[in-house]
Amino acid sequence: MVIKPRIKGFLCTTAHPQGCAIDVERQVSYVRDHGPIDGGPKKVLIIGASGGYGLATRVTAAFGSGASTVGVFFERPATDKRTASPGWYKSAAFDRQARQAGLYTRNFNGDAFSDGLKQQVASLIARDLGQVDMVVYSLAAPQRTMPDGTLVRSALKPIGKPFSGVTIDIVSGEIRPVSLEPASEQEIDDTVKVMGGGDWERWMSVLSDAGVLAPGCITTNYTYLGSEVTWPIYYHGTIGKAKEDLDRAAREIDSRLGSIGGTARVAVMKGLLTGASSAIPGMSLYLSLLFKVMKQAGTHEGCIEQTTRLFAERLFGDAASAAGTDEAGRIRMDDWELSDEVQALVAERWSKVNQDNLDTLTDFDGYRSAFMQLHGFGFDGVDYDADVDPEVPMDLVL
Ligand code: NAD
Repeated sequence: MVIKPRIKGFLCTTAHPQGCAIDVERQVSYVRDHGPIDGGPKKVLIIGASGGYGLATRVTAAFGSGASTVGVFFERPATDKRTASPGWYKSAAFDRQARQAGLYTRNFNGDAFSDGLKQQVASLIARDLGQVDMVVYSLAAPQRTMPDGTLVRSALKPIGKPFSGVTIDIVSGEIRPVSLEPASEQEIDDTVKVMGGGDWERWMSVLSDAGVLAPGCITTNYTYLGSEVTWPIYYHGTIGKAKEDLDRAAREIDSRLGSIGGTARVAVMKGLLTGASSAIPGMSLYLSLLFKVMKQAGTHEGCIEQTTRLFAERLFGDAASAAGTDEAGRIRMDDWELSDEVQALVAERWSKVNQDNLDTLTDFDGYRSAFMQLHGFGFDGVDYDADVDPEVPMDLVL
């Protein structure tokens, strides 16, 4: 099959296996070049291990700290007519590289919200690893089946008043208005059920009851606060409510982990283009502006730079003890994004940007290239006209 990008709205429905593998190789090289992480974890469970921040965390743990990793994700394998999802190809590539490096790696492709899967993961950990010393929850999901079988969906909507902003068409670069009505109470509640801290707590209870959390175990979950210009749709919207719930869950889990000397932390990460963030209305403009300013300032990072800095400077080793948290107990990896200089420039350009100055005021080219690379397109060294086998096998426990 000759695989080309097929883009509909903010979605690309194809992915290239070779490009996705190169993406993972680059992340592995970055971590290796960075050197070993002092005091890093040795046995890590990553829930949401195949995309943006979760995959980068897995690479950092495995290749920066030699960790055995168990990854949980929900990805689509290829059929004879359709490519696999990017996360399938990237997880398969991670698995190959980890095995080649002699690292333990196991994968679960299934619904992380299900109790059955949680039990199976706990049993595998008990059998193969005994216990884990780190659990990373990095799920971004559009919907969830609740323990009683009902299906709830998350919504990306403002709260209280309508939102009007703009979005940029990924193919044509055309700036288009976008508006959204405020969420109903039901939509807010449902978004908290899907993206809040409830399922993180459930995972930690199952793992704790199964006795597979090592003394001193640390668990993290990722959040985003963002800038004033994105608050109406993000932090003050439905997703922001869900993220507030993570702070509550972190306090609960942290106090429960006290008996084994463990810790639960929410880490505030930088805004980046991932499968999840590409769906957020208005984010394309903010991220295009942000990329330009941060690249010029020399402070731009991708997921792998963020997770490696998180491990090396905020979570493990001597540097971590001095790093501290914010008033809500969160680790701030968005420090460079939210610096006054960066935000002042973004805000100033936000009000001026139009179709004519899009290429000069923003890094929309960089945004578009990140979007293509997310799906394995646009990498040097890949012949995108060649026939490739879309079926890439991967060892799965489930
Ligand atoms: P992503 O879309 O790249 O990855 C999501 C992961 O969740 C994938 O591994 C996917 O397979 C998995 N997943 C989804 N539904 C699942 C299910 N039912 N069962 C098992 N796995 C499932 O998303 P991302 O942007 O890396 O987001 C991860 C976390 O980071 C989220 O909490 C997000 O809010 C947070 N975050 C993202 C950004 C950003 O800019 N992208 C910034 C800060 C924080």
